[in-house]
Amino acid sequence: MKIRQAEGRWQNWSGSQQARPEIIQVQHLQHLQHIVKSSAQIRAVGAGHSFSALATTDNILVNLDHLRGVVAWDKANTRATVQAGTRLYELGKDLTPFNQALINQGDIDQQSLAGAISTATHGTGVDLPCLAAFVQGFELLTADGELLQCNQQQNSDIFQAGRVALGSLGVLTKITLQNRPCYKLKEQIRLCRLKEVFTQLEHWKNQHRHIEFWAFIHSDVVVLKTLDETDDAIQPREDGWPSEDNLLTVCSELTRIIPASNSYLQKLLGVFVKPSCYVDWSSRIFPTARNTKFNEMEYQLPADLGLQCLEEVLQTLKQQRAPIFFPIEFRYVKGDDIWLSPFYQRDSVSISIHQFYKQDYQAVFALVEPILQKYQGRPHWGKLHSMTATGLRELYPKWDEFMTLRQQLDPQQKWLNPYLKQLFLTE
Ligand SMILES: Cc1cc2nc3c(=O)[nH]c(=O)nc-3n(C[C@H](O)[C@H](O)[C@H](O)COP(=O)(O)OP(=O)(O)OC[C@H]3O[C@@H](n4cnc5c(N)ncnc54)[C@H](O)[C@@H]3O)c2cc1C
Repeated sequence: MKIRQAEGRWQNWSGSQQARPEIIQVQHLQHLQHIVKSSAQIRAVGAGHSFSALATTDNILVNLDHLRGVVAWDKANTRATVQAGTRLYELGKDLTPFNQALINQGDIDQQSLAGAISTATHGTGVDLPCLAAFVQGFELLTADGELLQCNQQQNSDIFQAGRVALGSLGVLTKITLQNRPCYKLKEQIRLCRLKEVFTQLEHWKNQHRHIEFWAFIHSDVVVLKTLDETDDAIQPREDGWPSEDNLLTVCSELTRIIPASNSYLQKLLGVFVKPSCYVDWSSRIFPTARNTKFNEMEYQLPADLGLQCLEEVLQTLKQQRAPIFFPIEFRYVKGDDIWLSPFYQRDSVSISIHQFYKQDYQAVFALVEPILQKYQGRPHWGKLHSMTATGLRELYPKWDEFMTLRQQLDPQQKWLNPYLKQLFLTE
């Protein structure tokens, strides 16, 4: 059996997490079973797009990049079973022949399906839950090398817990997704006043399938984006200059070098960001280019507290003259029933703070995190935060049940790296 060890260090997308693991590219299921049975400490990694240290280990790091593609489909129920290492960007192409498409997606599509599900990755839309809520079943390889089929009928507790489990119950190998027939979306982006958002959002949020906006600390103008289902003819996105991404890079570099330019540049937003309207198949409209690297903190709050919390976040960052050019992102996510989902039994608003990767994020996140927590926020598992078991238990009604199940499935703590120990076990 061939085991490939990568040269040098492993690092996540932003470069904030680094380690020297033995990286093993899994060739097939029996290979994975062999590795799991013969190793004491393992983590699974997908695309390495989590900001938190979920995949950081100096032990074995398994990757399922070779286990990709659709393995079965159910035409009558519009479902497909997909290998866990499949990247989200492949699903558009792979599901189309079966007239299926994902019901919702987030900002990018580089993640592996297993990685995105395991951290409750989400998009936006008041009626749309996170990706894990569309999982109808999965195959899980447990610490002792056993393969379990988990769904509402079989191993139902593991199914409830394992859809968002941060890789702590085992390795997901196959995932069955509830999809829908292919559809087109119309993307509309425009600038509007923050004041208008505060008065109109309650109304707007129910008028669009998806709605989100980005607010800047030194500008009273926000970038508002809506997506709606349409039968209109395709009008593909153009690669204009400057793109949103080019702008972010230039402005982030400028404000890093000359901090005093920050408020001027943010106020010039209206000059650069032009209203736009595109129509395309959903898998081409959801993802956007994110080439300007950043680090991110995100919390999920009760939906009715979202705007009040955002106002306090913006005020605080402005008063403290926080050195941050990136806007604050505001999205909606529908509640679900997954034990460790940040959306557990709660329709939510998600607030994200991004910091350019060359700038210190800790000081900025430390200003904002207490505010997000004051509004009962639950942190995004794949993003940066400072919470540990004591605080998390209070936020998750099923916390103890999850931990009992985890202990039963993995008594030797094979799947726990130092970060997960801190998250799950540190009181
Ligand atoms: C530029 C950028 C944009 C983003 N946009 C969004 C967004 O719009 N919405 C959102 O919610 N999040 C977003 N994220 C966060 C991202 O979706 C999550 O962190 C996601 O988990 C990353 O997927 P991955 O494949 O890179 O997983 P990794 O980061 O590699 O792993 C994440 C977790 O999944 C586990 N895992 C991976 N594979 C398996 C497996 N086969 N079995 C069991 N466990 C496994 C890992 O152990 C780890 O705990 C963004 C991140 C970046 C960098």
